[in-house]
Order: sequence, then structure tokens, then C-alpha cells
Amino acid sequence: MICSLSHEGVSSPAFSRIQIKKWPEICVCMPIVCQQCQDPPCMAICPTGARKRIVATGAVITDTKWCVGCKSCIYACPYGSPVVHPGIQKTITCDLCDGKPLCTEVCTAGALSYSDDKFAIEKKLAFAQKVASLARLK
Ligand code: SF4
Ligand code: SF4
Repeated sequence: MICSLSHEGVSSPAFSRIQIKKWPEICVCMPIVCQQCQDPPCMAICPTGARKRIVATGAVITDTKWCVGCKSCIYACPYGSPVVHPGIQKTITCDLCDGKPLCTEVCTAGALSYSDDKFAIEKKLAFAQKVASLARLK
């Protein structure tokens, strides 16, 4: 909700850059968020160059000026991170809130944290493997 509020001024999960995937049958909820890949497949596949990295924070974002809404980045992302903005029909992903993600500040359960160790490959691989194993359980 804080993501939706801060970026769009509305309180709706549909506008959030972080999605919560739920597997109620095994009592698991997991945040799905852009991992800011070192060599992002979403950038490689984007036909217009709309997916780009912000140098200051390392965030990989969609430049909506150039996005044509083809959804190729959605299919290329191994983490299932990009979602289509319900209003403008262009993709959105976490922009790291200029280096200080608000979601990590409001998560009372302490489930979210942010490290600027952008290329912690081992953590990202572990995350991907966890998502893959949960998907297999489904
Ligand atoms: S959208 Fe997906 S592929 Fe692109 S940087 Fe984020 S996690 Fe990596
Ligand atoms: S939906 Fe937009 S950002 Fe994603 S690949 Fe297509 S043009 Fe690029």
C-alpha cells in the first residue's frame, strides 16, 4: 500500500511495484520484487530501450516515454517482477524509492530489508530457487 500511495497517490495493490504472491495451501506469502539484475534480461529484450538502469541507485526501471507496452520484459524476467500499470498499460517495477525503499520502513514484521549490495548473486539465486520450489509445490 505504501508503494501504491507514494507512487500513484492511491491505495491499491494493483499499482504497487512490489507484489505479494500467496500460497495459502502451504501457508506461505512471498514478496515478488525486482532484483535489479546485474545483466537484466528485461533490458536485453526490450525493443525500445525503455528498460534502463538509474546510475545513482542501480534501479532498473521502465522509462514510460519509450515503453510501448509489448510486455516482453514480463516474459523475460526470471523473477516475475514487472507488472502492467492498470492505467497507462506500461510496465512498472521497483525503483528503490531513490535508494530508500519505503516498503522496508513500514514493514512491521521485519520481513523486508534493503541492502545496497546490488549484485549479491548468491542471495538472488537463493531467492529464485525458493520461488521455483514453491511454484513446483503448487
Ligand atoms: S525486472 Fe526482472 S529481469 Fe529486470 S532487473 Fe528486475 S528482476 Fe531482473
Ligand atoms: S513492455 Fe515496455 S519496457 Fe517492457 S519490453 Fe515492452 S517496451 Fe520494453
